[in-house]
Amino acid sequence: MTEVPPAILVSRCPSCTLRYLPRAGPCPKCGAQTAVPYGLPPFGTVLARTELSSPAAGWPSPHRLALVELADAVRVLTIVDGPLPEAGSRVEVRRDGEVYHATAAPAAPAG
Ligand SMILES: [Zn+2]
Repeated sequence: MTEVPPAILVSRCPSCTLRYLPRAGPCPKCGAQTAVPYGLPPFGTVLARTELSSPAAGWPSPHRLALVELADAVRVLTIVDGPLPEAGSRVEVRRDGEVYHATAAPAAPAG
């Protein structure tokens, strides 16, 4: 039996149903002042990625980043743990404090 990774907690606007990364302030689409927590599956698709061979001081080299689209079109910039994934590939996303990490995800179950 495999361990199920935790959901990625985002905000859901009760007025327009937009899902977005938690942030201070009103809904970025409709301006509603309230939002409710909403869990998304911790998997996404790599939209773009890059590898920095000379990152800023304090960061390991190479420093790999990926822009990942989760369900409901929520996009998050992640630090890549492990090899650089191809654009269009599926990754598992986890949150560590304020930082999101991505690793290559196992293939989606058939069926
Ligand atoms: Zn809204």
